[in-house]
Amino acid sequence: MCQANGLPAMRFPPAFLDEIRDRVPISSLIGTRVSWDRRKTNASRGDWWACCPFHGEKSPSFHCEDKKGRYHCFGCQVSGDHFKFLTELDGVSFPEAVERVAEMAGVPMPARDVQEEKREQQRASLTDVMEMATAYFQARLQAAEGAKARAYLRDRGLTPATQQAFRLGFALDSKNGLKAHLAEKGVSKEQMEACGLVRHGDDIPVSYDWFRDRIMFPIPDSRGRIIAFGGRAMAPDALAKYMNSPDTELFHKGNVLFNFARARKALQKGGAVILVEGYMDVIALAQAGFDTAVAPLGTDDRKPAGTALAHVAGTGALLRRRPGGPEGGMAGCRPRAAVYPGRAVRALCAVARGPGPGRSGPDRRTGGVSRGAVGGAAAG
Ligand SMILES: [Zn+2]
Repeated sequence: MCQANGLPAMRFPPAFLDEIRDRVPISSLIGTRVSWDRRKTNASRGDWWACCPFHGEKSPSFHCEDKKGRYHCFGCQVSGDHFKFLTELDGVSFPEAVERVAEMAGVPMPARDVQEEKREQQRASLTDVMEMATAYFQARLQAAEGAKARAYLRDRGLTPATQQAFRLGFALDSKNGLKAHLAEKGVSKEQMEACGLVRHGDDIPVSYDWFRDRIMFPIPDSRGRIIAFGGRAMAPDALAKYMNSPDTELFHKGNVLFNFARARKALQKGGAVILVEGYMDVIALAQAGFDTAVAPLGTDDRKPAGTALAHVAGTGALLRRRPGGPEGGMAGCRPRAAVYPGRAVRALCAVARGPGPGRSGPDRRTGGVSRGAVGGAAAG
């Protein structure tokens, strides 16, 4: 497990969290916020039912069990423990939730070790911070505020499994959504800046989120660690439709190919590198069963990064989207030869079952790519 998810737990010893959870029956915490249903509840067994505080309802489908210290709603599927209940319902931070439960338990909060906290902050390296940001964006995409972004991805034909495999996320239309989240996790201003996650500078009095109102594409390095993000604007009038992280200590965009790690792994089983133009193209191809697609992050298709991978694979081809063609849909894309001069380049053309008469979008199952078309071309 990465350290990132463990940060709150590191600030509070797990034994302490267990102790306060054990001391406070979850029903006594939740009971301050709901009225128990007398008929369904069996108090002597610690089995409690109420109308769900997370969604409006008239008959109780919200359940909590003292023995397990957990709640679950059979209506809206929320579930969790003491801390989750407070963070989700009241919107308090995790440390605040811990403080409240500790108070109910009559257990003093552990003394803060300022030195130790500082060291922990430093240990959270930049890749840990990027991992935290990735998880944050992923969670926003799945939350209510990500509905529009989810609809967009669905319309592009990307299944939830694909979205998860590529760890797609959503950046809120907010200047400090991510910033506040990371600050709460103990990430310093300097680390956020070093990761390229905030805009800052002499002319910016208060730094703010680099990505706002965008679908987020985490960009892994050759070992699969997230080193940057690409963001696609949700607003049609956004100045830049696609935007990448700035170059940082971790990320030099000229050297990075999107999907490199995954493609390299897939290439061990054979096949050709497929160099495409954008993240959506790579993801659509992966969903259609082609794991060897990569995309450069610069504007120039012929960047050395592309040839590096071609050397690994010995063969490659560039699929170019038809101008104005749908993102992630390969319909009508043209093969481009001589991407890697001096190499035997196999022309590869995905002739897709893209939007046609009576169709409103790319094929849902394949993201607009026909397996037979690409496979056949690759073999020729
Ligand atoms: Zn509910």
